[in-house]
Amino acid sequence: MTLPIPNPVPEGLIPRDVCPHCRRETHCYRFMTPDGHWLETHHCRAHGDVAPLRRPVVNQRLMAELLPA
Ligand SMILES: [Zn+2]
Repeated sequence: MTLPIPNPVPEGLIPRDVCPHCRRETHCYRFMTPDGHWLETHHCRAHGDVAPLRRPVVNQRLMAELLPA
């Protein structure tokens, strides 16, 4: 018996971490505390530290505004 190979997820539907306020993709920072625990924080350029949403939709218009011309 062979198992079917799942279809790859289309590029536009891959979930990403986005800001809950503006839907821009967040920047993730991971670091280890002195006692050995890993912490992860997410930062939005417009809204600072946020608790991200995991969504396939990213606000492309606002993301383009962040890129240098
Ligand atoms: Zn934001």
